Amino acid sequence: MRTLSRRVAVVVLAVLVAAAAGCGRTYDLETVRSRADEMSERILMAYFESDAHGEELNVASIFEEYGDLADPGLAEHVDQLRRSETDPRLRKQLDFLFFDVVGTIVYDDLAVIDDEITNIEASGAVTLEGEEIPYRELGDLLYNEEDSERRDAIYLAMGEFESRETNPLRARVVEIGREELREYGFLDLDEFESLRRKLDHDAFEETVVRFLEETADIYWDLTNDAAREVFGTDVTEVSDYDRGMLFRGAEFDEYFPADGMMPLLRKTWSGMGIDLDALTMIHIDDEDRPGKEPRAAEYCVRPGEDVRICLKPVGGVYDYETLFHEMGHALHDAFVRVDEYEFQRLGDYGVTETYAYIPEDFFSDDAFLEESGLILEADVRRDFLKKQLMSDLGSARYYASLFRYERLLHRGGLTDEELIEAYREHMEASRLVPLRHPEFGYLSSNEDYYGVNYLEAWFLAAQVRATLEERFGERWWSVPEAGAFLKELWAYGSELSSDEVARHLGFDGLDSSYFIREIREAFERYS
Ligand SMILES: [Zn+2]
Repeated sequence: MRTLSRRVAVVVLAVLVAAAAGCGRTYDLETVRSRADEMSERILMAYFESDAHGEELNVASIFEEYGDLADPGLAEHVDQLRRSETDPRLRKQLDFLFFDVVGTIVYDDLAVIDDEITNIEASGAVTLEGEEIPYRELGDLLYNEEDSERRDAIYLAMGEFESRETNPLRARVVEIGREELREYGFLDLDEFESLRRKLDHDAFEETVVRFLEETADIYWDLTNDAAREVFGTDVTEVSDYDRGMLFRGAEFDEYFPADGMMPLLRKTWSGMGIDLDALTMIHIDDEDRPGKEPRAAEYCVRPGEDVRICLKPVGGVYDYETLFHEMGHALHDAFVRVDEYEFQRLGDYGVTETYAYIPEDFFSDDAFLEESGLILEADVRRDFLKKQLMSDLGSARYYASLFRYERLLHRGGLTDEELIEAYREHMEASRLVPLRHPEFGYLSSNEDYYGVNYLEAWFLAAQVRATLEERFGERWWSVPEAGAFLKELWAYGSELSSDEVARHLGFDGLDSSYFIREIREAFERYS
């Protein structure tokens, strides 16, 4: 699977909502920014300490300390300021701040229901053949179960638990979120997100539909080949609960030993003229300690000054990809050269995901795999790259369809039955095979458009790569000037949107055709 970053999302200014101070107050935005920045720093440190040293996480108490920032009138104030601002850069800065404040106000009101969902999942259990099993253990159980009928039973139990226990709450989250956004003049989350990113969702939907259509044949061939190999059947015969096995590729884990990750990371960036050991602002904690969170993550404690990565190497390609992905985020945060709080911490996450995807995608590059010494046998490399292509394309197709479905979910007006039918239709358009139980996932799959960041990153990373190849050759990852080129891009922080980065590089804007071309070329080479 494509790495879904656990990049710590800081809900900046969540605090603004906590208590309503009076209207008619005056606001010093510089103080607001520096307090919000300080709060972000403390929250990120809290997450780091929790993941790295197992310390108890208590973000709520940090929020409380910044109660002086809690003032819903600020949203109105920033809205007025941004509407009268004529300088484009200052306007953009205020836009970022405004959308962040409103988004956080809404999020804060929904947090109670989110907590309720988490608690139900944490304490819930199902009965399977007379045995009571905690809900949270069902995923692992399904993954490790040898018997097909029992896998089916576990899958059904999980889905029925969600339908009964958590779906009603998830439906309320969507409804309440829509009502709250209307108080701020937005129709729904679809309009809010579209305006926040300055991304025309109708045009973007046309782009993702084209992407789905143009990659359908390739995806069908890849999944069908995998189904024949793994199960000895056509992909249409593979049950929903067994689909994950098509993408596992555990046979390649031996090529990615745990002790090789850090040396390869250093060597790779040094080839691009970036000596990680000399970057004193990036701290890598790769020590193996008990109680440490195994999943790699990046923490931008202070942009440009204190950026941390915490990991516990276990090996396997997924672990390598995650480390390279998180280091991509870290370099972006370390080399930021804009001073504004909004351009350092807020904005379009599609851009930082792009800088994370670019190094992650080295593990889909034939020449890189060979030159790094990871997989020396050409035929193994070909099989591995074919599996990588299927995983990558499968994830991108999933998020393309999820985006289309989320638009219907958030705009409202559909009954539950209509939503379930729409979910089935869109997921089948992505998977290309029937989905047996659309009623299980039609609410729990909602990510409130976070997947748009990944879609932007798939498209933009291919455009950046095309630029790097044109300027520095196919093996650009061994050219120091390529590192210098990336540093110049990182320097903007989040000031430029994905579309603006593409234009900055000389394209007509964000364009999926480069990603589609890469997929076609890879398919021709590896299948
Ligand atoms: Zn990420």
